[in-house]
Amino acid sequence: MSGGVKPAVAVIGAGLGGLSAAIHLRLAGHAVTIFEANALVGGRANRIEEQGFTFDTGPSLLNYPWVFEELFHAAGRRFSDYVQLLEVDPSVEFRWSDGQHFQLSSDMKTLLAECERIDPGSSPGLTSFFRDAAAKYRLSFDKLVTRNEDNPLQWILRLSAREMWQTGIWRSLDGELKRFFGSRYIREAFGSYGMYLGGSPFELPGVFSILPYGELAYGLWLPKGGIYGLVAGMERLARELGVAIETNARVKRISSDGGRVTGIEMESGEVHGFELVVSNVDVPTTDRELLGKGPGKANSPKMTPGVLTFYWGVRGKVENIGHHTIFLPDDYKGAFDDLCRNKRVPEGLPFYTAVASETDPDLAPEGDSTVFALVPTPLVSEVPELDVAGIRRRVLERIGLEEARIAVEHAWTPAEWGRRFGLHDGSAFGAAHTLFQVGPFRDRNYSREIRGLYYVGAGTTPGTGMPMVVLGGKMTAERIAARAV
Ligand SMILES: Cc1cc2nc3c(=O)[nH]c(=O)nc-3n(C[C@H](O)[C@H](O)[C@H](O)COP(=O)(O)OP(=O)(O)OC[C@H]3O[C@@H](n4cnc5c(N)ncnc54)[C@H](O)[C@@H]3O)c2cc1C
Repeated sequence: MSGGVKPAVAVIGAGLGGLSAAIHLRLAGHAVTIFEANALVGGRANRIEEQGFTFDTGPSLLNYPWVFEELFHAAGRRFSDYVQLLEVDPSVEFRWSDGQHFQLSSDMKTLLAECERIDPGSSPGLTSFFRDAAAKYRLSFDKLVTRNEDNPLQWILRLSAREMWQTGIWRSLDGELKRFFGSRYIREAFGSYGMYLGGSPFELPGVFSILPYGELAYGLWLPKGGIYGLVAGMERLARELGVAIETNARVKRISSDGGRVTGIEMESGEVHGFELVVSNVDVPTTDRELLGKGPGKANSPKMTPGVLTFYWGVRGKVENIGHHTIFLPDDYKGAFDDLCRNKRVPEGLPFYTAVASETDPDLAPEGDSTVFALVPTPLVSEVPELDVAGIRRRVLERIGLEEARIAVEHAWTPAEWGRRFGLHDGSAFGAAHTLFQVGPFRDRNYSREIRGLYYVGAGTTPGTGMPMVVLGGKMTAERIAARAV
């Protein structure tokens, strides 16, 4: 830890971004206190436990393990001493209503054979895709993603003309995939990752082909104990370093005077003085609820969709689906148009399921299973009342799960997600990653109006997803170090 007395920091929210920022700030010599509204840390990466079934509430696909290794390494610890990762390979299976299916694997031989099965002659395309996306991935992480840069020109000028060409930023993700794959099934599978970035593959920039690539190249993992095993490991590290964590501690307001942060007011009425505050609460929610900005002043970026999530504790083994399955409709483009433009639940009902107990049987009573289903939906303001019962019936039918086997059940609507974690308009993944909402165009990780106020998490840079918000924690700490308080 560096010497000198540094101002104490309040971090509002113990999501993965908040935990990461707290760890990095503590390592930089600040005294850090996290104030978390809920009883458990983790934010969207939370946990439900009932009758021996353990469910991760939100994230279920863990990739880029190097990001987490680096976080622990920065603290002089070994990640594997805190979190045990179980590899999930074969990883994700895509299924279409016409019966076609496509199984991903990080084992290149297996993946090549699968591509050939779906589309004979497609393996050279896959090899070229890997080469191209590997270069994009390196460029993105080395030069773009993890830099605090406010000036768009400076940001992009980090790339040479050749490198800029390589990013494919002016092509759509679907256009990018068309360069390598003739099969609609392979394109649809890889393009469906766009859902989590809040746009359709027909609109998102081509550089996001790094998403399917990153998952294949670095593998897909499940921490022992579920995703919450990672959260628990990060919480333990933070506490060992001396970060104070207060749970059931909801912040009501960030106070400021003369354009400088002065502290936080708790819902309980307590007031704490701080010169530095980092909000891990969704940026538009921070603006509206904690800073009291009116609707006109609160920023309103384009948001990613909402999600309706189901948690089923099931008696016996689930035979029909593996650990990760993505069900895609036959009218793929129509589904994205419905979700992103027409603002309705897509007719063909794309959805995702996870049976984490298949990889870690301890998540369910012996011989039983946990089933998680995630259905992308419009935002709360777009569809205030979802037909939850109708969607539930269709999901159960499609995965072939009999009602009678469900022993435990929970369902969270986008409104419920919003209420529990302060997610603006129930958006599951935060601000979308359209071209003008990434890098220096995205909401910054510091306030331009109030000195001493910073942000971390899915709504700010670099963006959404567990690895990104953990990288974001480091960026916020670097931002604080670089700016005079
Ligand atoms: C259903 C779902 C599935 C997902 N799947 C994946 C996946 O498979 N892989 C992946 O990498 N990512 C996935 N994500 C995205 C990932 O979960 C998020 O990007 C990431 O966890 C967000 O972290 P964050 O730092 O923004 O904090 P958040 O998780 O948003 O946490 C913010 C914290 O602030 C607290 N808070 C809010 N208001 C207050 C207040 N007033 N006072 C005090 N505390 C407050 C909240 O309680 C919460 O704990 C998924 C998200 C969802 C919702």
